[in-house]
Amino acid sequence: MNDSIYRDLASHSTLSRPLGTVIAVQANFYQVRLDQPSQATNDQETFSLLCTRRTRLKKIGQKVMVGDRVVIEEPDYQDGRGAIAQVFPRKTELSRPPVANADQILLVFALENPPLDPWQLSRFLVKAESTALSLCLCLNKLDLITEDQQQQWQQRLEKWGYNPLFISVMTGQGLEDLNTRLRGKITILAGPSGVGKSSLINTLIPQVDQRVAKVSGKLHKGRHTTRHVELFELPEGGFLADTPGFNQPDLDCEPQELALYFPEAKQQLSTGNCQFNDCLHRGEPDCIINDNWERYDHYLTFLEEAINRKESRQKMGEQESSLKLKIKNSGQEYYEPKLESKKYRRRSRRDKHQSLHGLYDQQSLAEIAHEDEDL
Ligand code: GDP
Ligand code: ZN
Repeated sequence: MNDSIYRDLASHSTLSRPLGTVIAVQANFYQVRLDQPSQATNDQETFSLLCTRRTRLKKIGQKVMVGDRVVIEEPDYQDGRGAIAQVFPRKTELSRPPVANADQILLVFALENPPLDPWQLSRFLVKAESTALSLCLCLNKLDLITEDQQQQWQQRLEKWGYNPLFISVMTGQGLEDLNTRLRGKITILAGPSGVGKSSLINTLIPQVDQRVAKVSGKLHKGRHTTRHVELFELPEGGFLADTPGFNQPDLDCEPQELALYFPEAKQQLSTGNCQFNDCLHRGEPDCIINDNWERYDHYLTFLEEAINRKESRQKMGEQESSLKLKIKNSGQEYYEPKLESKKYRRRSRRDKHQSLHGLYDQQSLAEIAHEDEDL
């Protein structure tokens, strides 16, 4: 056998170059969960390594994100250290939160306490649909409503195009089904505060508190900043992305695209064409979308918002400013620095599409700037 082929094979053996998944990123350090425990020590403790990124990767502008599949070089199992030598191509990439290879979004709402607000739900759904990741809608606190009420929600949401999973973290109802949907996948947890997301994480991953403290240590410092993402490993395989509290997500999609993020409107669009190909479906002649669906009002309101947003963006764009104008739900305007200015940071269309930006609380500009430096 040719020497170099032999070297290649040897260098790809799991023993010398273990594979893993990046579960946390902070500053220039990456916590990597190894696929296999270290055979060197046969010790559970060495399931994860704190890694740096090889200079070679920095030179080619190869970013390392939470969720990335990586090859580790020179693992030191005793000290729990290593270096990331290679990053595998990503299946998906979200920019906000920065997560690679996510498979789906788990959108959690409560049925009661706080009561389910259709507008808020709609807004989160539209935002989630705009990422092109698959979506699992989960309604928690089933213990607080009657069977009749459950049926009413079921029927109502079916008309919206969704088949929600009803659960109660408190009684354990529905959690087995949920586990099945999460198994082997990277799932991003989203939803407003108070709906039971932390309770859900703690139930699905009973060891999470100790584990976080142990694994992350110093890394854990930044976990309450809004862009910080951490993956928690599920007992049955797969990861759950822990994300900080959400607020009302802003809808920064193209007005033209909005209807596609409503399954019940998308369905109508699939049956033919509107007379105008730039139709916004608000009463134009021979529009294929009728007004006979519950969320049509939501559509019109969100559309207005998307149009306003686009106009403001265009105004700012003409000024070629280093800031971009954003508008809060309240209509209040504020500026955000353009962070995409560096070449490698420019977002692809798909990436932009998949941005969950806005599912997060408004964050301080300083924090964005700081964390972007780290990427
Ligand atoms: P988060 O803000 O989404 O992380 O929500 P938390 O996990 O902090 O939960 C908010 C509140 O809802 C807490 O008081 C929980 O005990 C409660 N809670 C969570 N799940 C359930 C449930 O299934 N039923 C009921 N009745 N309360 C729940
Ligand atoms: Zn139309």
